[in-house]
Amino acid sequence: MGGFYGYSEASLYSKPFPAVSTGFFTIATLQSFHIYLDFLLFIKFNANGQVFNRSARHFSSHHPKYLTALVITVLLGGVGGAIATLGPDAANLPVRQVIEPVQALSQFKSNDEPAKALLVLYRTDTTRSNDTVDTLLKRLGVDDAQAAAFLRRDKYARQGLLGGRRVSIEALEDQRLNRLTSRWSADTDGQFKRLTIQRGAKGFSSRLETANLVASTRLASGTIQTSLFAATDDAAIPDAVATQVAEIFSGEIDFHRALRKGDRFSVVYETLEADGEPVRAGRVLSAEFVNKGKTHQAMWFADPVEKLTTAHTTSKGAYYTLNGQSLRHAFLASPLAFSRVTSGFKMRLHPILQTMRLHLGIDYGAPTGTPVRSVGDGVVEFAGKQNGFGNVIFVKHSAKNTTVYAHLSRTNVRKGQSVNQGQNIGAVGATGWATGPHLHFEFRVNGRHFDPLTVARQSESIPISTTVKAQFDRYAVQTRVALAAAGSIQAASAQ
Ligand SMILES: [Zn+2]
Repeated sequence: MGGFYGYSEASLYSKPFPAVSTGFFTIATLQSFHIYLDFLLFIKFNANGQVFNRSARHFSSHHPKYLTALVITVLLGGVGGAIATLGPDAANLPVRQVIEPVQALSQFKSNDEPAKALLVLYRTDTTRSNDTVDTLLKRLGVDDAQAAAFLRRDKYARQGLLGGRRVSIEALEDQRLNRLTSRWSADTDGQFKRLTIQRGAKGFSSRLETANLVASTRLASGTIQTSLFAATDDAAIPDAVATQVAEIFSGEIDFHRALRKGDRFSVVYETLEADGEPVRAGRVLSAEFVNKGKTHQAMWFADPVEKLTTAHTTSKGAYYTLNGQSLRHAFLASPLAFSRVTSGFKMRLHPILQTMRLHLGIDYGAPTGTPVRSVGDGVVEFAGKQNGFGNVIFVKHSAKNTTVYAHLSRTNVRKGQSVNQGQNIGAVGATGWATGPHLHFEFRVNGRHFDPLTVARQSESIPISTTVKAQFDRYAVQTRVALAAAGSIQAASAQ
């Protein structure tokens, strides 16, 4: 059978089989599913510092605690269109994980042959905007005037060493440069550039090539101990993925208010790699979030019919529950996008809240200037100063629904203007009766304040169209398997 390829360490498999759901249980599950589902599954394990392929070797040197490189890639031959990549990458990128056989480091001479030994040292660093060739080489442990001179005058090197580029070098034992490589990618295409500078018999030469990024899928999971970002950091999940997860569930969970210690999440997301090195995170394909014991699940699905027949032409897809309900609600649960910045602010206790029974609103602590967004489509009913509210915006969403955004440092909209859900309408401030920068937010239904989260959850969502429901359901089955696999990763790595 050709559907399953695993590169893993024998010792991992030989551990006692625990009774709980672990990675191995999941692998078995996946294996039995794959024929039926036309899954093509590749798995890379990078555990205990062991090295299984070139990318893992590279990655492990930077993320020694990275234990969760369980990567599956689904070749959805029969379920086309359901796999997502960010932006224009999608059309160009074959969704395929390239696995290379293990390459031993012993290709370089060992201590047995001291006469010929050329110890090669590898280092990687990121260029800084104020770097010179000399400061960069010094950080990389290279002491080589000839190389420095070449890098200064080579036109390709100038591109490859711009600020923010990751640069890897191989240095000889005497700190001379043997090879320098830099890879980078613009955000807008499915390709990356590779600069190689190589020592040769006649001095250095440089080469600049273009190659395709490879999209692979990564599974990860975590448990909230202190904050979402602390948990995603522990699981080596990029911030871009953490904020996507928060946005996906933004109609169901207010990440500013509702996270609890012990909440769990699993996520399946794309990562775009250049020569096996992850260069950026792609789209979240599916996610699960267990908040206060309630499980929320989401899956990205591109509805081929929607593109042609409805006004949603800008969206190639959307997130749905695995039962086929759109997660796009009429209202977001929070007027602040969840980010590392806003997550660091505890919910502010309104001074009046403790003394009065009624505090008609929710206060979000956030730094002055944090963007404020309209939670739903509507028309600006008021934008300006009011006594206690300071700079305040009222958005009317319907005859009965109005939202209020107060204490703003700035308003970006005018009375009568139409706004869309998620549109930036102003910024957090401390105007009016505010003891510090925060957003006072109200959701008024027929003039009475309601919990925005309750309103958001009750707002209608659109089910997947019946024409693609069968296709959707097939993909949902695969997604359940993938999410279960993702959830098992933490268990496996925690052993
Ligand atoms: Zn308030």
